[in-house]
Amino acid sequence: MTDEPIHIIGGGLAGSEAAWQAAEAGARVVLHEMRPLRPTDAHQTDRLAELVCSNSFRADDWEANAVGLLHAEMRALGSLILRCADAHQTPAGGALAVDRDGFAEAVTRAVSAHPRIRVERGEVAGAPPADWTSVIVATGPLTSPALAAALGALTGEAELSFFDAIAPIVHAESIDMNVAWRQSRYDKAGPGGDAAAYINCPMDKAQYDAFVDALLAGPKSEFKDWEHVPYFDGCLPIEVMAERGRETLRHGPMKPVGLTNPHRPDVKAHAVVQLRQDNTLGTLWNMVGFQTKLKHGAQTEIFRTIPGLEKAVFARLGGLHRNTFLNSPRLLDAQLRLRADPRLRFAGQITGVEGYVESAAIGLVAGRLAAAERLGEPLAAPPSTTAMGALVGHITGGHLAAGAGSFQPMNINYGLLPPMDEAPRGEDGRRLGKRDRVRAKKRAIAERAMADLTAWAKARALA
Ligand SMILES: Cc1cc2nc3c(=O)[nH]c(=O)nc-3n(C[C@H](O)[C@H](O)[C@H](O)COP(=O)(O)OP(=O)(O)OC[C@H]3O[C@@H](n4cnc5c(N)ncnc54)[C@H](O)[C@@H]3O)c2cc1C
Repeated sequence: MTDEPIHIIGGGLAGSEAAWQAAEAGARVVLHEMRPLRPTDAHQTDRLAELVCSNSFRADDWEANAVGLLHAEMRALGSLILRCADAHQTPAGGALAVDRDGFAEAVTRAVSAHPRIRVERGEVAGAPPADWTSVIVATGPLTSPALAAALGALTGEAELSFFDAIAPIVHAESIDMNVAWRQSRYDKAGPGGDAAAYINCPMDKAQYDAFVDALLAGPKSEFKDWEHVPYFDGCLPIEVMAERGRETLRHGPMKPVGLTNPHRPDVKAHAVVQLRQDNTLGTLWNMVGFQTKLKHGAQTEIFRTIPGLEKAVFARLGGLHRNTFLNSPRLLDAQLRLRADPRLRFAGQITGVEGYVESAAIGLVAGRLAAAERLGEPLAAPPSTTAMGALVGHITGGHLAAGAGSFQPMNINYGLLPPMDEAPRGEDGRRLGKRDRVRAKKRAIAERAMADLTAWAKARALA
């Protein structure tokens, strides 16, 4: 056991959660965040845990959705990120969405006020100094080039960078509500009871076809040296989706199902553009699934052809960004440590998980593992039957390597969790129909996860 601090590099979703968990466990922490002294291409503030694009932490149903299960596990382990998200929720149907400013401010305040955490502003612009005996690197998809180069030299693996795109945000008052309407798909109420959490803009077939043509023809940003690098499938730019087929958008973010236009209830829309509330005031709405690499002028022109958005004023247009992540299955051990230099742990998106929640979850685990090691009470990662353990397992070995570049960023999903030994049955012991069986299976996986997580946390507390 030593009283030397754990140095955490990067005060984003993962680094903030890791710092909190390590400090709560009793370790001292120095959190190094380079903003505002050195900006990134996407962050706009000096706050910790800034959300750079969507304000959604996705579905919040722990029994029916894998990311909802991750929320529940994190809440059970005292996650700072989930606590602040819950305190700054905005309406979003069945999803957990937050007021981004209130959320990040709350995280910043809590971390800065913790007696065992010191926040130091400044870039770590090379390999972490040799006298930092425990380090968590949580510098995210936009890891500064100097540190990325040092990590590349250390790991012997070339860093991987590729394009990803952010969606535009529209001022609510500029949306024509005589054309658009508020409704959640299938009127599904969210945690706050709101069944009208989205603004919907309808398109008929001619409008949709013209829109797809415009996307295909619109000028795109240059690829430069990132050409030929793949996208995550979950964050494809709309014009790339349009390139995959005329109907792709209508079956993706623009699907018209579960919605009825109150202005024209007898006419079924051919496609629907949805916007989700982005701040507590309800003044800003982001275009769901509309991440794009179209040039800014083209975005304004093309998105104003969407019915209801003819006079849209954009608070932010879509854009491109870099993504940096390690080939973790080869580089990291089960403790999230670099095999080549075990004083370095990794957390967040740089480990090859994808998304705010997943990044924070890996931060939570890394913070606890580092603190346990520092305090002389080594701890195993959560079991693979939990969503958190499944994510750790995937990035530290669960992925089946199939050649160079086969390891790609991954959201949490049920496929990462081991299946149940027995198929769930009805109360009377009879086989369930397909829909009920799927629902019961998810519930059983969730119940197993929560029970195993509780046992893991308890064993630690008793040790
Ligand atoms: C433009 C963009 C849009 C995205 N959109 C979404 C989305 O809509 N939904 C979603 O779930 N996920 C999205 N992602 C992924 C998202 O970044 C991650 O899910 C999440 O923010 C990653 O958390 P993190 O803590 O790993 O990294 P971050 O939250 O990015 O935090 C890393 C921190 O490290 C700091 N840093 C970097 N280098 C150094 C250094 N050398 N020294 C000191 N500090 C450093 C940065 O300033 C930053 O604060 C997006 C990513 C980008 C880049």
